Amino acid sequence: MVERNLFKLIPKVDDILGRDNIKKILETIPRNVVLDSIREETKLIREKIKNNKQEEEILEVINNLELSIISNAEYKNSYKLRRVINATGVVVHTNLGRSVINEKIMENINDVVTHYSNLEFDLLKGVRGSRYSHVEEIIAKCTGAEAAMVVNNNAAAVLLVLNTMAKGRDVIVSRGELIEIGGSFRIPDVMIQSSAHLVEVGTTNKTHLFDYEKAISEDTAALLKVHTSNYRILGFTSSVDAVDLIELKNKYNLPIIEDLGSGVLLDLSKYGLEYEPTVQDSIKNGIDIVTFSGDKLLGGPQAGIIVGKKQYIEAMKKNQLTRALRVDKFTIAALEGTLKYYMDEENVVNEIPTIRMLTDSIESINNKALKLKRYIDNIEIDYFDIAIEDEFSEVGGGSLPLERIPTKCLVLSLDGKGLQKFEECLRRFSIPIIARLYKDRVYFDLRTIEEDEISIVAEGIKYALEQLKEC
Ligand SMILES: *Cc1c(COP(=O)(O)O)cnc(C)c1O
Repeated sequence: MVERNLFKLIPKVDDILGRDNIKKILETIPRNVVLDSIREETKLIREKIKNNKQEEEILEVINNLELSIISNAEYKNSYKLRRVINATGVVVHTNLGRSVINEKIMENINDVVTHYSNLEFDLLKGVRGSRYSHVEEIIAKCTGAEAAMVVNNNAAAVLLVLNTMAKGRDVIVSRGELIEIGGSFRIPDVMIQSSAHLVEVGTTNKTHLFDYEKAISEDTAALLKVHTSNYRILGFTSSVDAVDLIELKNKYNLPIIEDLGSGVLLDLSKYGLEYEPTVQDSIKNGIDIVTFSGDKLLGGPQAGIIVGKKQYIEAMKKNQLTRALRVDKFTIAALEGTLKYYMDEENVVNEIPTIRMLTDSIESINNKALKLKRYIDNIEIDYFDIAIEDEFSEVGGGSLPLERIPTKCLVLSLDGKGLQKFEECLRRFSIPIIARLYKDRVYFDLRTIEEDEISIVAEGIKYALEQLKEC
């Protein structure tokens, strides 16, 4: 009997729809979404009754029904892919979207994508054009290459290159370079997909020029160098630089392909970072085809950029695979905007967020840390301690794996109290904050927190501490 009474207390759907607060959210949230939320939230109550939960608990849920429906509907209606604050100090963070695009180029991207564009139309001749033409010249200019093209990502670039240049034939690779990049990019697997035959030479730690030479046969289509971007083999090692392979290229008339991965266009050692081979160097050295990512150290959108000899690039453009790997206008617009900054080195350091963050001075990072600390200094909780500490940031994205860049972190100690929950609350903040958790402390690396995000991080910390107090 008691049970039946409780069921009767659950408001009817029409009843709920008629309430003022629900009518109000119906102005911004589609009716179907609100209806789903109503059904879900009332179902929860029915289940509680069926499971013989305490009457008190059930009444409370019924009392809060309107609020639960509203927050459920708002969540359902919110964007699932959204902005977060990267407080990890990993600059090229693949899980957090890799490179940040400069806001200033958004105006043109917006203009292009919210209107018709000349994506595949030649405005001078009035005939059909190529989508690659918009960036080919600027890529060639930045890299010194004869020709260029762009596909979906660097994995696609390697696939297309191998399929075009070595389908059904041999490609020689050093055993020390059979890499796997986060996720599922494995050179041997990409090789199979591309229908090229992998010929491994040398050993894991040592490969010599004669290893390559011995493997060359009539079936050899190319020599492939893969930049071991996400690890280093240290100690008793030797590998053959791409430039040394030129000797074999000339002797046997074989093209050399280099997968550079990160795609640096500027010598980062000038800014105190480890030297990372630049695309220009590879081209200057005579490498026939070079591939790299658009969203690693280049600091642009996700893309795979292929540069090198025109005859090969032309063949790639004609490959059927290209149609499946082609880039969208969003990508082309963002890539063109990013590359324009490369026309002047000073611009690169100031305007490409990825490079700006990597080369940011310790003074500037420290100032940001002090600013964040001032924002939260007045929070009075006895078990809570803040300090600014010397730490290290990482490049990330499988680039410069050994590089540890000195940085400043704001470090919160919570006496072990609710640390996991605190970190979880940061992730649930209106602009989620992703921090580093290490040995009972939370680290906020100011290298990847932008100046205008400092106050948001402070708000997030306050919010998370409030939530903790409530438990
Ligand atoms: C990152 C990387 C890739 C894959 O590039 P994506 O743009 O992520 O597809 C391939 N090769 C190397 C050497 C890399 O570092």
